Amino acid sequence: MNATKTIEPQKHHCENHEKCMEMIQAVLDGSATEDEMKGFKANMSECLPCIEGHDLQKSIKEALQQKLEKKCCPESTVNKIREKLGIASILLIFAALQVTIFKVILES
Ligand SMILES: [Zn+2]
Repeated sequence: MNATKTIEPQKHHCENHEKCMEMIQAVLDGSATEDEMKGFKANMSECLPCIEGHDLQKSIKEALQQKLEKKCCPESTVNKIREKLGIASILLIFAALQVTIFKVILES
């Protein structure tokens, strides 16, 4: 689940978090270029907020994927996402993302 292995993140504050989040989303969507992928991987090894953001976005994506594939009850998926969001509540950007996800869940 955690792909950070033994690398210790050095940055505990991301000065460019919005950009980082965009990059993470592009990578997870598969729309990132090779250069973006490289920059993403380098950044991910040292930026703690980005590692957390990536894990969170990935688990949200997986939860949604699971819901679509297995058609599991939406409530447990929502709770799962809420749990994750609680852990990473410092990432305010996900408040907006959460709304989008809830919309997806409610509409699908
Ligand atoms: Zn960052």
